[in-house]
This record gives sequence, C-alpha cells and structure tokens, in this order.
Amino acid sequence: MAGIDFSQLSHTPCYICEEALLEKNLQLLNRVQKESGAKVILALKGFAMWSTFDLVGKYLQGCTASGLHEAKLAREKMNKEVHTYSPAFKEDEIDEIARISDDIVFNSPAQFHRYYERVKAINPSISVSLRVNPEYSSSPVDLYNPCGLYSRLGTTIANFDESLVCKLDGLNFHALCEQNVDALEGVLEAFEAKFGPYIDGLKYVNFGGGHHITRIDYDVDRLISVIKAFKKRHNNIMVYLEPGEAVGWQTGPLVASVLDIVHNGMDIAILDTSAEAHMPDTLAMPYRAAIRDAGESGEKAYTYRLGGNTCLAGDIMGDYSFDTPLTIGDKIIFEDQIHYTFVKNTTFNGVKLPSIALWTKEGEVKIIHEFGYEDYKNRLS
Ligand SMILES: *Cc1c(COP(=O)(O)O)cnc(C)c1O
Repeated sequence: MAGIDFSQLSHTPCYICEEALLEKNLQLLNRVQKESGAKVILALKGFAMWSTFDLVGKYLQGCTASGLHEAKLAREKMNKEVHTYSPAFKEDEIDEIARISDDIVFNSPAQFHRYYERVKAINPSISVSLRVNPEYSSSPVDLYNPCGLYSRLGTTIANFDESLVCKLDGLNFHALCEQNVDALEGVLEAFEAKFGPYIDGLKYVNFGGGHHITRIDYDVDRLISVIKAFKKRHNNIMVYLEPGEAVGWQTGPLVASVLDIVHNGMDIAILDTSAEAHMPDTLAMPYRAAIRDAGESGEKAYTYRLGGNTCLAGDIMGDYSFDTPLTIGDKIIFEDQIHYTFVKNTTFNGVKLPSIALWTKEGEVKIIHEFGYEDYKNRLS
C-alpha cells in the first residue's frame, strides 16, 4: 500500500478497497475460468461493493444472490447472470425473484414443488436447480459448516425426490469455508457418490463458494485440473464456482483513529470503530485481525488493548504492540477488512458506519460513501 498517507485521512473509520488488488484477484479468477472452462460468479453475501461492479463484471459472469434484495442489486448494478438461492423463498417475493433471475436454486423438494410452475410461467427461460447436501465437510468452524449435524441447508440424498429430476437444470452444493482444493476434492467425491446418477442430464453443477482461490497458498493449478476432470467425467457439463471471500480477499484495510487512551491494569486505546459493529467476523469466527506495523502483545515496546467505541465490554480487537507509544489521532490500520465486513456491519450503539472508499489504480483515495445519522434512524422506527 505504499502511496497512501493514512495519517492524512480525514474520514475514519473508513474501509478502503484497493482497486489494483481487487483486479488482481479478478484476473486470477478469470484464469481459472479460462483454463478450466468453469464460470465464476460473485457471491454478494461476502462482497457487495457495487461501485466496483463494472470492474468485477469485466471478469466474472455475474452474481449469486441470497434472496430478493441481493438479486435486485445484482440485476441493477452488474446486470450479468443472476443466480438466486434462498434457504426458503417467500410467497410475496418469489414472482419478482423469478422475473430478475436467470437461475433459481431451491433448497428442498417441497419448495421446488411449491414454486416450480409459477416461476416457469413468469420466466420460461429461467434455469431451475436444487441445492443438495453432500453430507461431507471439513469446514473448520461449526458456525460456517453447511454440512454439519441437522443442517437445514440443502437436500440430503435421503430426502431427494427423483420425481423432480426431469425438471432440473442443475444441482448446487456449498460445503466449504476458506478452504483449499483438497477439501473440494473430498466434497466432490461425496457429491458424486450420492448424486452421481442425476448429474449427466443436467446443464450444470454449481460447486458453491468457500474456495479460497486468491489466498497465496491455494493450489490454483490443481483446482483447474479437478474441474477439467469433473467436466470430462460428465459429458463436458458446465461448472460454476461462486466465491465471495476470494473476490474481496486482501483487497484493503479498515482505517480507524485513536480517540482516547485509558489505564486499568494495562494501557487501553479506544478507537472510533467497533469490532462488534464493523468487523463482526473477528468476534463471530473468531479471528484476530492483523494491524499494519503492530505485533503480538509484548512483542514490540508498547502494548495496548484496542477497544471499540461502544458500551459492549467485549468489543475488543485484541492486544497489540507498537514501536512507539500511541497518541490521540493515530491511525490504526486493520488489514483485510473488505470481505464480510460492510455487508454485515450494524449501527449498534448508534455508532457511525465506516465510510467506504476506493483507492483507485490512478492512486487517488475516493470516498465513495459516507454514512450518518439518517442511516441509523432509517433502520429503526
Ligand atoms: C456463503 C456462500 C457462498 C460464498 O462463500 P465464500 O466463503 O464467501 O466464498 C457461495 N454460495 C453459497 C450458497 C453461500 O452460502
């Protein structure tokens, strides 16, 4: 990130997406498309910075949406393929979803039967798929394991309904979370063992998300050969991947400012951001966000506990050490805070939502949007 002088940044907290890094991710995903023959679509759930969608749409084939609102955003802001999956669709939303989607994915045979005719009547060219549960997962965290015990996500082979096979255009599964290609190979083996007999009449199979393709140690060449081998086994069937995290992975920080320093058995810095409200996965996953130029507790000369500007006692980013003492107004740069942050953040405690900015390829920091009191008020009544 040489080039941005964060100490001059007047808008904090602020998520700053670096356009060049985003494009680098998209180019790698495009290489996967070109060399494997698969199509890659963006899972909006993980990254929905629509001001970048002209760029994203240059490389990816479209979006996958989790329901009406994401489908509308996909249609409005990218206008390429729109695939919509929901654990359950609602009566009052299904018609509009059918109109604006190219592809609809049902979670259960009951939902399929409930809506199939209606969806086809509204949009005769829509593709229709079922999400299945391969009942195999090596997902590291239960919160993010769609194949865990009693999972509601996807139809198991025991609940599969052969009567809908003749109406199916595709099958979807989603079983991974931040994983490498070896995990995909395990899932694929389970998927084919269970659903293999139904694959060959289909137009496509969607391998879901959770492929950490843009992480430095991801085995991209192996992914390409796994996809090619799958296509070869199945009559050159179309394969979709729908990563979210891999698109926004390591594309920029959340920059915050130190507001105060208090002492209670240790030095504690209070920031103008919040782990709970602005970096929710750091508490939910949980994981420790890296901070630029900071170390573990005690590693450098000056250690601080960093806390958010809310009344939640546990709104703590962790203990970090710095080469020099922190002072009021110092910037704290939390790395890699673009995916699964502003799609999930809240106005808990009435804290201001961080601004969203783009560091353009031309080297300019463009504040795309600032949030304020109205955003807090409008989601309450
Ligand atoms: C969350 C999700 C994705 C994207 O997952 P990432 O881990 O962000 O790649 C894709 N498909 C489905 C069905 C999902 O639920």
